[in-house]
Amino acid sequence: AKHLKLILGDQLNAQHTWFRVVDDDVVFVIAELHQEANYTKHHIQKITAFFSAMHEFAKTLELQGHRVCYLTLDDTQAFEDLTALIVGLVKKYDSESFSYQRPDEYRLREQLKNITSHINIPVYEADTDHFLLPFDELPNHFTKATHVRMENFYRSMRKRFNILMEGDKPTGGAWNFDSNNRQSFNKSDIKVIPKPLVFNNDASEYLARIKQHGIKTMGKESTEVAYPINKEQSLTLLRYFCQHQLPNFGNFQDAMTMASPYAWSLYHSRLSFAINCKILNPQEVIQTALLAYEESEGKITLPQIEGFIRQILGWREYVRGMYWINMPEYADQNFLSAQRDLPDFFWHGKSNMQCLNSAITQSLDHAYAHHIQRLMITGNFALLAGISPKQVDEWYLGIYIDAIEWVELPNTRSMALFADGGWIATKPYAASGNYVNKMSDYCKGCKYKVKEKIGENACPLNSLYWNFIGENYDKLSSNHRMSFPVGNWRKMAEAQKIEITEHANYLLNNLDTL
Ligand code: FAD
Repeated sequence: AKHLKLILGDQLNAQHTWFRVVDDDVVFVIAELHQEANYTKHHIQKITAFFSAMHEFAKTLELQGHRVCYLTLDDTQAFEDLTALIVGLVKKYDSESFSYQRPDEYRLREQLKNITSHINIPVYEADTDHFLLPFDELPNHFTKATHVRMENFYRSMRKRFNILMEGDKPTGGAWNFDSNNRQSFNKSDIKVIPKPLVFNNDASEYLARIKQHGIKTMGKESTEVAYPINKEQSLTLLRYFCQHQLPNFGNFQDAMTMASPYAWSLYHSRLSFAINCKILNPQEVIQTALLAYEESEGKITLPQIEGFIRQILGWREYVRGMYWINMPEYADQNFLSAQRDLPDFFWHGKSNMQCLNSAITQSLDHAYAHHIQRLMITGNFALLAGISPKQVDEWYLGIYIDAIEWVELPNTRSMALFADGGWIATKPYAASGNYVNKMSDYCKGCKYKVKEKIGENACPLNSLYWNFIGENYDKLSSNHRMSFPVGNWRKMAEAQKIEITEHANYLLNNLDTL
């Protein structure tokens, strides 16, 4: 074949210009890579999902008449890494050119940019035809090491793509309905939480291969892939979401509960895997949801659809811009100088803190947690306990079905850990047990008492919270959005401060036992 074209595991976009015409001079390579299975310790369900989706994509291309070279872990094991594999394939096919789509991840992009020093044929980098905002325009919206307001970016995207707009005004007269979107569940709400749509894709072939090659993984093994692995399933999940979850998406976006068998999914779409590996295009997700809103005869209200569109058109595109403008320095940020080790229970879920136990166990079982669990349960704990951002990043990058560095890293470093000192969030999302108690039912029946600050049975989040404010006093006292807790800490009686700090330090020295 004259032309070799590489498709990475998160580039399963059938609408890409590459596939418009069938050309026998082109071979598309899709490969299960040891390098990608091993760059971090992934959840086992994440690897089976990626391999299944890649294989499905290869089969679809073949059916359309394209020449495809699908390589399994067996086929690629002889090659040291992706670079070596490409060198080998160029030789095998005697190729005249090599093309790839721009990787979303810095690490892979550097590796592929460097391929020209290994092969002597023309190399082309194509766009992925995926994001709404063109890559070259990122510098117009984002500035290195500088706070960029998501809200401003989001509004510019609404205008530019004419989404939920009436002329130059936002539909309904407001850009933001977040104040409606902060509800927690009461008993009757919990009874009607919809059942999540899960698939039963056979994963045994991939599972066997992953084991045979000794790939180190975490999480609960499953012989099935519950996430959509092809276009048809992804569209089915999207339509299911629009019908069953979108009508309450905004209302319960921040809510958490343990009292439902569907507590792990609630009103969230679980579309992140299909979108991140590009089976679904974000524009098509937005248009489908908008149509559902228009045809719903009021069943889906404006705050619900706006809340959903904000996530995809706003947050998702914003986070990608922040990633690219700030890499590679982003991965070294540690504004609060957090150094402690991640407690062991992050890897097995067995903590006496019911909130952590629940969110982590669910993540190990399903390779999924929704945003507020990631941000305000595991993330908040890691922030208050001063866990090293590198270790926290590694955990998030491995455990979630949708975890790819470009979207994982800004969310973890900036949103959860405030390790950038304010590029994204203007203050740390730090919270004591009170917040968890307000937004969830985790505290009921927990060994620890949410109303107590000190003592064996006090909720650890309480003393850790105040200790966090005290420990980072110098860095936080100049932040006017933190003036309330910082002021409260300043005014606190010296004896109480000592008591809290001592208790917190005891906990920090015994994190594994919490
Ligand atoms: P829904 O709640 O149904 O939201 C719809 C869609 O909006 C998502 O599918 C996603 O595409 C987009 N979205 C929502 N919030 C964000 C956000 N903050 N950033 C980017 N896109 C967003 N998301 C990932 O895709 N991969 C990650 O590795 C990842 N790591 C995270 C780590 C931390 C510490 C935090 C706080 C958040 C992280 N997120 C990540 C963002 C968010 O939590 C997930 O996108 C979301 O939970 C995916 O589930 P869902 O599809 O059911 O989302």
